Amino acid sequence: MLTFDHGGLRRATAAVFAAAGVEDDIARAVADLLVNANLTGHDSHGIQMAAYYLDCVKTGRLNPDQRGRVVSDSGSILVIDGGMGFGAVIGAFAMDEAMARVGSSGAQIVAIRNSHHLGRIGSWAERCLENDLVSIHFVNAHGHPPLVAPHGGLEARLGTNPFCAAVPATDRHPPFVLDFATSRIAFGKVGVAYDKNEALSEGMMIDRQGRPTTDPATMIPDATGGALLPLGDHKGFGLGLLCDLLGGALTGGTTHPERHTQETTVNGMLSILIDPAALGSWQTMTGEIDALYEWARSAAPAPGTEGVLLAGEPERRNRAERAARGIPIAEAAWDDLAAAAEGVGINRETLDRLAGQAI
Ligand code: NAD
Repeated sequence: MLTFDHGGLRRATAAVFAAAGVEDDIARAVADLLVNANLTGHDSHGIQMAAYYLDCVKTGRLNPDQRGRVVSDSGSILVIDGGMGFGAVIGAFAMDEAMARVGSSGAQIVAIRNSHHLGRIGSWAERCLENDLVSIHFVNAHGHPPLVAPHGGLEARLGTNPFCAAVPATDRHPPFVLDFATSRIAFGKVGVAYDKNEALSEGMMIDRQGRPTTDPATMIPDATGGALLPLGDHKGFGLGLLCDLLGGALTGGTTHPERHTQETTVNGMLSILIDPAALGSWQTMTGEIDALYEWARSAAPAPGTEGVLLAGEPERRNRAERAARGIPIAEAAWDDLAAAAEGVGINRETLDRLAGQAI
């Protein structure tokens, strides 16, 4: 395992994208989205995605110069077309356009269609939190073979379709940021386990014959070798399907076979932004919020756990820890990035130097 300072990782990753012909500000935005995911502990959405993104650029499955375009603006509903640009750029454009329109109505809906991978969706909720906004995000993922079996089925039919919602901080508590794939685990975590040569926990995946397996090689490198299971049985399947309906059917495309042919990642996202102050007194609300958090946390800890955590807490802890002590990166993942960097004219030595001394 190698350990890098996040500043060095940002520098090295941005340089690789820039060497691939990506404009400097876009290269930096992409590097920031990825490294911020590493900082929060979600390595599945960190610099481990960079080689895949570069391959998509090289083969025309990602349009690196797209910055997002407003397709329609009916007041309360805004529709953005991403033109298959980097999710790091399209997500930021869409959130900023939506936030600018919340205004006195106190709410805004924004639909993104045709974005390449939007990365860790919590990043977009956190951008809304910077303006004290509640946000809810339904996301679908298509353009590649399906990865998740429906409850009651033994073959993959859906993407990992993440759901995310966030509530701003109060004076006494940090923000609540709930952000997860509707599969038992995000697909990228299968790749992380594969890179580390580790087995998955039981109950996450089935093979092509529908048999339970913990071997990440079932779906890496051939994603069609099995299927992830939906989180929470029928409930997670329902939520995953809802993400496809709201983030997909209503925005630009769902996870059905005609959309599996592009071998890329297309994210659609339907986001609802709410200014809580438009609903009443924020001071009264924060009293309720604080009391609720404290009540939930007062439950006796279950054996073998550290007790009750609130969504957003693991990511905050990781961010503090990894900002101070560095981000661990599996050697196989660094090798992948180095190979991709070689392809755009940055040799291993230069990449290592840009990233700085491994801590
Ligand atoms: P996960 O299983 O780690 O769950 C993360 C969520 O659970 C966070 O809100 C976290 O704060 C909360 N959490 C974790 N441990 C907790 C605990 N002990 N108590 C209370 N809350 C806890 O996440 P995941 O499903 O592996 O997803 C990882 C990332 O992948 C997410 O950021 C998601 O947006 C991203 N993703 C993106 C795509 C895409 O197409 N762009 C697809 C799938 C997933």
